[in-house]
Amino acid sequence: MTDTTTTAQTTTAKTGRTVLVTGGNRGIGYAIAEQFVAQGHRVAVTSRSGEGPSGTLTVRAEMTDAASIDAAFTEVEAALGPVEVVVANAGITRDTLLMRMSDDDFTSVIDTNLTGAFRVVKRASKGMLKARFGRIVLVSSVVGLLGSAGQVNYAASKSGLIGLARSVTRELGARGITANVVAPGFIETDMTAELPEAQQAAYKASIPAARFASATEVAKVITWISGDDAGYISGAVIPVDGGLGMGH
Ligand code: NAD
Repeated sequence: MTDTTTTAQTTTAKTGRTVLVTGGNRGIGYAIAEQFVAQGHRVAVTSRSGEGPSGTLTVRAEMTDAASIDAAFTEVEAALGPVEVVVANAGITRDTLLMRMSDDDFTSVIDTNLTGAFRVVKRASKGMLKARFGRIVLVSSVVGLLGSAGQVNYAASKSGLIGLARSVTRELGARGITANVVAPGFIETDMTAELPEAQQAAYKASIPAARFASATEVAKVITWISGDDAGYISGAVIPVDGGLGMGH
């Protein structure tokens, strides 16, 4: 049996999509941008300082400022065409225990991680609705599902992304737009490399896979969920955590 829809979509995919990754100048966002480039897409990254990987267009954007996000999209659209895939990856932590957490510690993390993703998704949806195609990926964390002492602000921001993606799925799902959440566990980044050996060993003992993931392993899941073949997956939370958050 021939599925004409699938055939048409596969043909489009060969020409590549226009992709925007927020916070793509380092860490996981950099690896995500690299993977999209390797797969032949037109890729832009937002950055506050520094550049994305080779082959990407870097634009400046501040996640707490809707006007700066709008300007970044406009610049990408002019250079690469309408954004078809958006990955809201930019994020911060400001860890401290509840009793010591200031309002500013809480609201600044929410403003960047959750409201920032909302601003990005809202701006991206304009072009996606017109094109009747879109892939939205929100980078959450296993902490959003499990909770974490000292991360009331961060965990709240990361679980909020799930409600965001699922509501977007309900609003835009009929227009060829998917919205999914990817929830990484411990990833090998500068941050985890600086942890004392004993602490790294303790973390690894709690992970069924008994190791941290590379940023590339997260990136490959994100390119897959953003691909034309993943058009019937939406509102999903995809863990990339070696089994750490199982069942949550
Ligand atoms: P990172 O600190 O190396 O990079 C974060 C990026 O976000 C940077 O480019 C930074 O400039 C950008 N950013 C932060 N605040 C911003 C703002 N207000 N405006 C614009 N850009 C801003 O972090 P990472 O470890 O690569 O993490 C990337 C994402 O993955 C984050 O959302 C993080 O919460 C999530 N995550 C990371 C891990 C991990 O182990 N590193 C685990 C789970 C989830």
